[in-house]
Amino acid sequence: MPRGKAHLAFELGTLPGWVALGAAAGADRAPLLFFTGGYIVGSLFLSPDLDLVRSDASRRWRGARFLWRPYAALFRHRGISHSLFLGPLTRVLYLAALGGLGWGLLHVVGGVPFPRAIPWGSALPVLGGLYLPQLLHVALDRTVTFGKRILRRG
Ligand SMILES: [Zn+2]
Repeated sequence: MPRGKAHLAFELGTLPGWVALGAAAGADRAPLLFFTGGYIVGSLFLSPDLDLVRSDASRRWRGARFLWRPYAALFRHRGISHSLFLGPLTRVLYLAALGGLGWGLLHVVGGVPFPRAIPWGSALPVLGGLYLPQLLHVALDRTVTFGKRILRRG
């Protein structure tokens, strides 16, 4: 299994290529910026390895690391959390639930209003940016595992 730093190097190292690909496909600057922001956050803070109590990703949450304890307790390492499409969805939904709880608390305590609509024009590139490095993480895990199996058979 590649270590957390190898994953991060692979994910962040391929980011310029993804942005260049998006630009070549005609994407505007703003969605590319939203994608890049989501991608960096996804690489650093939403790794599939949040299913471990101690991982590079959980350490990056610093004092808020405890927020991912229930996630690590809920998901077995390399189970659903490491599946290609459901894995990132579990973390995005988990994060959305945390955000919703936090916002709800601010609403009740401080009267902070709820947003009236989701700005999909920026939300979709951000979601794409959050998803892609997580897909790369799982793809790299599977490629290395497959390669080791081939080498062992010799
Ligand atoms: Zn992993």
